[in-house]
Amino acid sequence: MTGPMAERAVGAAPPPADQIQPFLLEVPALRGRLVRMGPLVDSILNRHDYPQPVAALLGELLALAGVLSSLLKFDGIFTLQTKGDGPVGMLVADMTTAGELRGYAEYDQARLAAAGGATASARALMGEGHMAFTVDQGVNTERYQGIVELKGETLAEILAHYFRQSEQLKTAVELAARRVEGGWRAGGLLLQQLPEEEAVALPLATDEEDSWRRAVVLMASCTARELLDPALSAHDLLYRLFHDERVRVFEPRALSPGCRCSRGRIERILRSLPRDEVADMKVGGEVVMTCQFCNIDFRFDERALERIYAH
Ligand SMILES: [Zn+2]
Repeated sequence: MTGPMAERAVGAAPPPADQIQPFLLEVPALRGRLVRMGPLVDSILNRHDYPQPVAALLGELLALAGVLSSLLKFDGIFTLQTKGDGPVGMLVADMTTAGELRGYAEYDQARLAAAGGATASARALMGEGHMAFTVDQGVNTERYQGIVELKGETLAEILAHYFRQSEQLKTAVELAARRVEGGWRAGGLLLQQLPEEEAVALPLATDEEDSWRRAVVLMASCTARELLDPALSAHDLLYRLFHDERVRVFEPRALSPGCRCSRGRIERILRSLPRDEVADMKVGGEVVMTCQFCNIDFRFDERALERIYAH
């Protein structure tokens, strides 16, 4: 191997299984993100007993949340959520600045089977509806939200529609998620035009539109198998795809599963509610609060509730 990739790849430690690899193509001036998730997505999907097509769709959404959030400068939580009238009514994936991801799906088993199960497209699973992006940086800060109709057969096509419609920088993405030997894996590859002020420092190709298309075709040549292959390093994959584009890689970011639920947090919520309202929530003598992300029940019997109100 020659070129900048080779210099950086020599002597590098094996990459962590869950990470975002930022990169740059010098020709044409594009930035990119390669996200690959192994144990992370496996642990999130295994907390639920999702049918295969639902798990695969949520896996792709988690990979999409990874690539998109890493393009933004923020300190807080990036959330990607779909809502539609199809068998998969809702999908949520969020990621914190620290690289902690979580997600869950709501679906209707009977309608899923009627929709063709594993052979149905993402669009057929989600139906008519929208996908929303939110950046939450805590209280007293602006909540940025983008929203797009579910137009396109795949999540990648829906995203392409969003970027076209909102007249943002040209952006293309490839996504894949499936269960392979050793568990679930998900991957995402994104290319985006550089803002003009960053592009001027790089040697631009003569025909911008042609070179953009060429880069997108090269990206699309990446198979799901390559994207998800744990034995193929991020550097090797990027070099394989973009060696003529003078690909340059930057420090990767580690990702991990993480949820913000806790018993203490739920106790604070219960304490903030009128007591008779909480009493109405009791089923079989206890209040059960479920974290949909973790698929864990937090149970409060009468004694536990007394303790909450004693504070
Ligand atoms: Zn949780």
